[in-house]
Amino acid sequence: MNHLFSFLFRSANTLLLFGFLLYAGSLMAQSGSKTNVIIIYCDDLGYGDLGVYGHPTIATPNLDKMAQEGLKFNQFYVGASVCTPSRAALLTGRLPIRSGMVSSEIRVLFPFSKSGLPDTEITMAEALRSQGYKTGMVGKWHLGHLEPFLPLQHGFDEYFGVPYSNDMRPNPNSKGASLHYPPLPLVEGNQTIETGIDQRILTKRYTRRALTFIEENQDAPFFLYFAQSFPHIPLYASEDFEGKSRRGLYGDVVEELDWSVGEVLNKVRELGLEENTLVFFTSDNGPWLVMKEEGGSAGLLREGKGSTWEGGMREPAIAWWPGTIEGGKSTQHIATTMDLYATALDLAGYSLPDDWVIDGHSMLPIMLEDKSIGDEVLYYWGAEIYAVRKGPWKMHYKTITPYVGEAAVAHDPPLLFNLETDPSELYNVADKYPSVIPQLQHVVEEHRNSFSPPPSRLEIVDSDLISGKKAYK
Ligand code: MG
Repeated sequence: MNHLFSFLFRSANTLLLFGFLLYAGSLMAQSGSKTNVIIIYCDDLGYGDLGVYGHPTIATPNLDKMAQEGLKFNQFYVGASVCTPSRAALLTGRLPIRSGMVSSEIRVLFPFSKSGLPDTEITMAEALRSQGYKTGMVGKWHLGHLEPFLPLQHGFDEYFGVPYSNDMRPNPNSKGASLHYPPLPLVEGNQTIETGIDQRILTKRYTRRALTFIEENQDAPFFLYFAQSFPHIPLYASEDFEGKSRRGLYGDVVEELDWSVGEVLNKVRELGLEENTLVFFTSDNGPWLVMKEEGGSAGLLREGKGSTWEGGMREPAIAWWPGTIEGGKSTQHIATTMDLYATALDLAGYSLPDDWVIDGHSMLPIMLEDKSIGDEVLYYWGAEIYAVRKGPWKMHYKTITPYVGEAAVAHDPPLLFNLETDPSELYNVADKYPSVIPQLQHVVEEHRNSFSPPPSRLEIVDSDLISGKKAYK
């Protein structure tokens, strides 16, 4: 009896040991195969600017193919309708009101800004780096150009790019602060390596650098944040693309961005990483419509950059992950860049601290199971909520036609649109559906009562630099 007992006991131990080895083995295999993440983020690209989103005269064969092989989002949103807060939302997973990266007065960072993204935030790069990822950033940062705020201080192992918008350079036609701006800098790590750069070759240089990063880090899990400077104006294309598109210079620039996307996807394939890499393409905000032919198109959506109409904050978005995401589909599920943050953390296996609030959910249910992850969107304009969406309904407290010198218009009662039957927000149906308004107001009130916003960091500026009393270093 004793013998039998001791035999059973030893067998059980052996089984346990065997089980443990299997478990450890699978953990190792998993950590060795963490999914790479590449985010390609354009600047001011409109919902209607790609072939696959219906543009008739801009040719985007690489993005069209990416959508064919991946998942196209019809209702993908950014966290703000201008650069700085939109980028803060993507990299922190939080509405930018939570990090202080908003202002209703000074809507983005400028060369005269003295602040940037606070280090209390948990950036996507910091989270992924803590899970063993190599982290690289190429392109436009716009979350603080002074050293304490640059990408290297926010979780990136390397950085190559322009620290703010490509129009923030001396402008002889301007009477404002931009008269005194320094020539556009190119930054490597924390150092400015060039000033007054040739923007015609910027997309090419960014792309080359992105491909090098992917090559050099092919054996480690990696995260590449590739933020293009274009099609933000002033527009520049290389000689391979200039004058080639049917849509003029704007089309040339977008076609070069399309080429760049193709280079990235080809590199991922060439290295055999395509089944282990999620590539996500989108843009920071809608088209800059007052720039006329030099600005893009929001397609059938109303308005563009700087507004809380759909054209300001709904963006083209494509997810590509061959073998995991089924190709050739589009989704109506609502998602945002803050969900993209949560997705990257999910893939890396990173858990946020329990008391840390974010505004996103992993998109894996959308991408893998065609399941919704939420149906609400808050549309902030600076520090103020102008509109809210729940399901098909969108309600506007205020609307603005941006960049024409007009003040915002307040609506009381608020405007109400059904985005499914009226995606262009043309027909106010508030009178017809009075019971919907309180439901939407409830979403806003719950959000407002849940936190107190910190002071704005975009309002911290050097007024001597603005006036020209002091020169830029
Ligand atoms: Mg922008």
